[in-house]
Amino acid sequence: MLTADDVEHCRSQLQQRRAALRAALLEHTRAGDTAQAGAAVEVHDLKDEAFAHTLANLANTELGHAREELAAIDAALQRIRSGNYAECAACGRDIGRERLLVQPGADRCLSCQSEAERSPAARAELRS
Ligand SMILES: [Zn+2]
Repeated sequence: MLTADDVEHCRSQLQQRRAALRAALLEHTRAGDTAQAGAAVEVHDLKDEAFAHTLANLANTELGHAREELAAIDAALQRIRSGNYAECAACGRDIGRERLLVQPGADRCLSCQSEAERSPAARAELRS
């Protein structure tokens, strides 16, 4: 089971990732490709590797993925507020502490996740 400290750790991870994604999306909307490359270099100087990586992905038109991830993060933060953060969205069992600490945005336990990834239909459902 997750301790309160674990949840706090996950929440801060999610919020950092959320801020980076939002900033990157904003940057992407505001700037052209050249300006964006400049921003990535500037960010790299700040040693914010994750943010730089996000910007690089966006430059490769991974905009949709960034939006999806942002939505997943928002959902995870909402589950933290509702107190069912560690509950699997598919089977209702505990997602597992190790999994959430590595992947704070996960909304399914490992077995439901691999189940979903095996079937393309279930995968489409996952995204909706
Ligand atoms: Zn499950």
